[in-house]
Amino acid sequence: MTTETSRPPSGQLPLLMLGVGADPAAERGVSCPGELPPAADPDLVHRAERARATLGDRAFVLGHHYQRDEVIRFADVTGDSFKLAREAAARPGAEYVIFCGVHFMAESADILTSPSQLVVLPDLAAGCSMADMASYSQVEECWEAFEDLGLDSCVVPVTYMNSSADIKAFTGRHRGTVCTSSNAKRALTWALDTGSKVLFLPDQHLGRNTAVLELGLRLDDCVVWNPRLPLGGLDKESLDRATMILWRGHCSVHGRFTARNVAEVRERIPGVNVLVHPECVHDVVLGADYVGSTEKIISTIERAPAGSAWAVGTELNLVRRLATRNPDKTVVFLDDTVCFCSTMNRIDLPHLVWAMESLVAGQVVNQITVDPVTASQAKAALDQMLALP
Ligand code: SF4
Repeated sequence: MTTETSRPPSGQLPLLMLGVGADPAAERGVSCPGELPPAADPDLVHRAERARATLGDRAFVLGHHYQRDEVIRFADVTGDSFKLAREAAARPGAEYVIFCGVHFMAESADILTSPSQLVVLPDLAAGCSMADMASYSQVEECWEAFEDLGLDSCVVPVTYMNSSADIKAFTGRHRGTVCTSSNAKRALTWALDTGSKVLFLPDQHLGRNTAVLELGLRLDDCVVWNPRLPLGGLDKESLDRATMILWRGHCSVHGRFTARNVAEVRERIPGVNVLVHPECVHDVVLGADYVGSTEKIISTIERAPAGSAWAVGTELNLVRRLATRNPDKTVVFLDDTVCFCSTMNRIDLPHLVWAMESLVAGQVVNQITVDPVTASQAKAALDQMLALP
């Protein structure tokens, strides 16, 4: 099965139960069309090892940091979304790129790899709720409103890596840039040197935290564009005044942490260091000791002195892995309830085995393809990111 990114005609996203039904215009996919091995199959690990060995250098398996351990053990490389896409592009000899991540990541890999490489997402229902919060038609409507108000000439779009290929293409067409959580400060600095306002998509929290805590803007310089309301729920005056126009999107994992979680963990573990991702809400970031991207979180814990204690506000699979790999430190999850990225967790060993065994049998399943026009415009925005001063 091939899923091709195409522009939705118009309107809001309909409700769609995870893994049920089809929505090719969004980050959600259908449930697995093939016969999955049962999760209880005692031979599953051996089947995965056999399929992986048979594919050899023809396949390259990428594992995002938030994936389950059962999947990560088969990854040739682990990383955040941009690192993984670049790793795939650096291996043109790999015919199949098996992306254990979510849909927008596989799209980025398809954009950055050569046409002869095929990108496979083991479960098409592995989407990203944040990316889904900015649909192409909504963003086009927003830009048309800017044009009507004469704002389009001074607004530079900046989209987070966690967005669909359509939104990256929109950004490329309007001479904007993509950013990651590691280079958001540089991206915003460049954008505000290029224009006088930024439209930041789709994560309001990364945009706000970077603008206020790293660029020194005030909270009042930021407004939030709600795509479900006329003119984003704003008026011309507030848009004229604003420097940052933040899209009303958030990560359903990082958005769960609260300032109360921070206060409680400090009470529970005296001397604990609180380390959070910049997708967390502003109050949580303000209350933390450190804030950083996924890669920065990993390196901070690895370099921390033995005996130190850390409460980490990011996805639970990663926090558990950090705790296991750093037994000389105390590493705990910031929230007291379990919180995985449910869509990332769709990729499990049965799906990985199914995808690899299908490739061994000569059948390409769940291929992710971005159409050439969208891919070239999205690549312009990605290239701009690579050229950031
Ligand atoms: S952790 Fe958040 S941003 Fe990342 S894939 Fe899951 S929902 Fe999307």
